[in-house]
Amino acid sequence: MGASKPEIPESQDSSGQSVLPELQGWLREIAADHRLFITAAKGGNRIFEEFSPDCKPVTGLPQERTLLPVKKVFLPPSEPLFEFSRGGIEAPPTPENTVVFGLHVCELSADRLLAANMAHDRPDFPYMARRSQSLMIGVSCRRTSGCFCEKTGHDHLAPGEYDLFLHLDDPEHPRLAVGSDAGRELAANAPFPVEDPGGDVIAPAAAAPERWPLEALPEKMHDSFGAVMWDELATRCLGCGNCTIVCPLCYCFYTRDETELDPANGRRLRLWDSCQLLAFARVAGGHNFREARSERIWYRFSHKFMRTWDTFGAAGCSGCGACFHFCPVGIGPRQVIAGVLQVTTNSQDAGGNP
Ligand code: SF4
Ligand code: SF4
Repeated sequence: MGASKPEIPESQDSSGQSVLPELQGWLREIAADHRLFITAAKGGNRIFEEFSPDCKPVTGLPQERTLLPVKKVFLPPSEPLFEFSRGGIEAPPTPENTVVFGLHVCELSADRLLAANMAHDRPDFPYMARRSQSLMIGVSCRRTSGCFCEKTGHDHLAPGEYDLFLHLDDPEHPRLAVGSDAGRELAANAPFPVEDPGGDVIAPAAAAPERWPLEALPEKMHDSFGAVMWDELATRCLGCGNCTIVCPLCYCFYTRDETELDPANGRRLRLWDSCQLLAFARVAGGHNFREARSERIWYRFSHKFMRTWDTFGAAGCSGCGACFHFCPVGIGPRQVIAGVLQVTTNSQDAGGNP
């Protein structure tokens, strides 16, 4: 974990205190007929939580990344997929009309890519049912230490890639950009000047913005398999899975059946899993396809920079920096990608993927 963070009063909004009273009133109106999630302050951290009349929405904190990403709203850490009995199976009702307020550019961008992933090939129906009837409201971010969206391409949104976006770059003059028809409806009662249609939204630039060679990374990632760098990372990695839990673009899960005393009655649960855990790729008979920690680390990064790019033309990493921040030994994409680029340039160290 990173260094301990200063306590922030829950009502503090570093982007402008004057915005808060109107914001609170507007969100209360939205919550009257929607299931509303906001970003709130908790112990100096930013978290997504369900709105209640006395909670304080925040739009900026010294620690701007959230403890858990917005995926938890649509893919909960634990959820019943269905109940079963002799009478058949019954799926739980899907919450309707969800609004999430307070997403930064990288979070909105990651959410869209996760949704594309979940709709691809074999659609994930529980996720899709929740996500498809949801509306996302972005807010301006300030760069936080350790984030790097400019390197991964998740640093901008075109109109239509957000429903609403609350610009707070100038806290004295907030403005609300409209990005969709559903957003336009919600903006009707907003206490801010409305920009309709809204334009491109671009995250604040880093001091030295520089995109990684994303088009070349799939091949370089492939060629780095077996390189010494993965063994070196494996000597430090604890295999704890923190990195995937906090990642807005990781979505692995497992299922477990829970039965009652009469085993004909019970439920099937879905729970978050992690490709960094030893048991993740273990199959019946005890064989493990990725027993070596070095292979599990390579697998995680190849999924992000090889498979996701090949399928969606986007990096499976938003550049939020959460995995680095919450990794007990400080392993993160910037170090790993620098290693991959170096190892495949000095090719004698590259292992080569069969
Ligand atoms: S890999 Fe790390 S930096 Fe990239 S999106 Fe996931 S948590 Fe954020
Ligand atoms: S990279 Fe860090 S957070 Fe991820 S499994 Fe290894 S030690 Fe845990």
